[in-house]
Amino acid sequence: MTLSIRRKVTLATLFALVCGFTVAGILAQRSLEQQELAQSSRTLEVRTNLVAYELRPLFLSTAARSAVPPLQSVVRELGTKALARITLVASDGRVLADSAVLEENLPTVENHRTRPEIQQAMTTGTGTDIRASQTTGERTLYRAIRLTDDDRTATVILRLGLPMTTLELELAQLRRNLMLAFGSAFLIAVGLSIWLARSLTKPLSDMAAAARRLAAGDPAAHIHTASRDEVGLLGDTLNQMADELRAKIDEVSEDRSQLLAMLTSMVEGVMVLDYRGRVLQVNPALERMFNVTRAEARGRQFSEVFGHPQLTALVSTVLTTRAGQEDEILLSPSGRCLHIEASVAGGEQENEACAVLVFHDITELRRLEKIRKDFVANVSHELRTPLTSIKGYVEALLDGGKDDPETSAKFLDIILKQSDRLNLILEDLLQLSKIESGQVLLKREPLQIGAVIERTLAMMRPLAGKKGHRLIVHIAPRLPLVNGDEERLGQVLSNLLDNAIKYTPEQGSITVAAHHIPSSAQSSEAKPESVEISVTDSGIGIPEQDRPRVFERFYRVDKARSRELGGTGLGLAIVKHIVEGHGGQVWVEGNLPTGSRFVVRLPVQPTGQPALHPSPVPSR
Ligand code: ADP
Repeated sequence: MTLSIRRKVTLATLFALVCGFTVAGILAQRSLEQQELAQSSRTLEVRTNLVAYELRPLFLSTAARSAVPPLQSVVRELGTKALARITLVASDGRVLADSAVLEENLPTVENHRTRPEIQQAMTTGTGTDIRASQTTGERTLYRAIRLTDDDRTATVILRLGLPMTTLELELAQLRRNLMLAFGSAFLIAVGLSIWLARSLTKPLSDMAAAARRLAAGDPAAHIHTASRDEVGLLGDTLNQMADELRAKIDEVSEDRSQLLAMLTSMVEGVMVLDYRGRVLQVNPALERMFNVTRAEARGRQFSEVFGHPQLTALVSTVLTTRAGQEDEILLSPSGRCLHIEASVAGGEQENEACAVLVFHDITELRRLEKIRKDFVANVSHELRTPLTSIKGYVEALLDGGKDDPETSAKFLDIILKQSDRLNLILEDLLQLSKIESGQVLLKREPLQIGAVIERTLAMMRPLAGKKGHRLIVHIAPRLPLVNGDEERLGQVLSNLLDNAIKYTPEQGSITVAAHHIPSSAQSSEAKPESVEISVTDSGIGIPEQDRPRVFERFYRVDKARSRELGGTGLGLAIVKHIVEGHGGQVWVEGNLPTGSRFVVRLPVQPTGQPALHPSPVPSR
């Protein structure tokens, strides 16, 4: 059983008090008893001397003795006066007279020779004793003196017995008073000790409660002590300590939350490992990159979590050489490309950061790089083809072809066509570059998209007619206005229609449709109100894997065919830039049973909003 400090203090104080009071009581009682006894002894001595004085005439002479009344009656009378038992004992121990015994009973009284006080008086002249009287049965204080007559022939012992009853009664009374006094003092002491224990332990228990609240995370927990003693000092020190602790915790948690905010908002993946390669920390970007959760990864060996041989090798090198490393890895099946920078943090113990790996997703960078490289290669190739052709025919002409008018006319015609093609490519490239560099400003005016479609169709109709295509138009009535650049949107439509005509064998059908798409906020991504324009053909179609790439510069599904049909490979790239410059989207789908469907979605001008000023086409 554990006792509280208050109980311990109270019990210890009470124990000390009980012991103290008991010892004090015993000592006080004993000294009072001795004092009373000494007092009684002195009184008895005086009385004995007085009685001896009274009895002396009985021993002066035989003549005098005959004149006094009988011994027994004198003794009895003196006994009454002296308030004590008086006994006269002969030198042989025989009782001559006794105030406590009737005269007729005197012969039956036991011989007193062996009584201690009588023996002492016989030898020394005086004797004292305390004991229970055999004659009266009371506890009695005896004093005996030896009396001798004038001629020293007869010796008697005078003994006075003072019953202790009165003394004992007085002592009992005294004891009671003492008990009462000690009892009252004890009760006061108990009260005081409880108060003392309480006042001593109250601040301590308050401190314990405040410390518990502090431990439970209550920031307002504070120890209040009124006392200015050591306990008060302790309370102040604890308060100071708690304040400092709180400030430190605040600082640490602030640092931690800033660090967490940084880690959480980073687009780069971050992973922290200890010296054994156990994962200590991963950030949300890394969770997304590797499709693992923080809970799954933390505390586990990184190779178990990620299982990428190249990454495992990199981490092993970093942990063994304790030197920073860099590498690039490819994730499958996502095909994402990650650049890893591994640096050493230096932790040598468990749960201490030893290596920090930062993962940059460079998939987009690599894609753009590839596009750029492809573009450069494509431009060179596209320009070289007509140039080589021109050069070849010019050389042929110089080699004698010019002498034959028919051949030279044919060669010059080819040279003209190739020059036109070169010109077309350069024009398209120039336009694309202008759009990309933001030099082309898109006008923003409310447009009836139906009218734009009709105008473009009128322009393209002869071209379609040449190949015997059927042109079908479905324009929904009351289409909302689109905020855009009429000329550029017309170019989008003509590029799409031109492709549809080009890539559809003769006698095909081409459908141009436009309808309204109301805004929807139900799905996860809210779609704004827009107008959808589609150009569908029954032509050769585009294989599914090529569809996302046809909007890239110079990307052509069938290069030879495109070139043969006079394509530059830049038409759809221009379309995409213009549509996105209008805040819209463009994509291609397959058409059943054959052909393609190009879809352009343009946002509708918000009602009541004035037409916007021209805006540059975003560069990409
Ligand atoms: P091009 O000048 O070669 O037509 P584009 O950028 O307009 O260049 O088109 C890119 C490629 O997309 C074309 O080479 C062709 O392979 C494919 N393509 C475009 N439109 C169609 C279509 N309507 N049907 C089939 N293929 C198409």
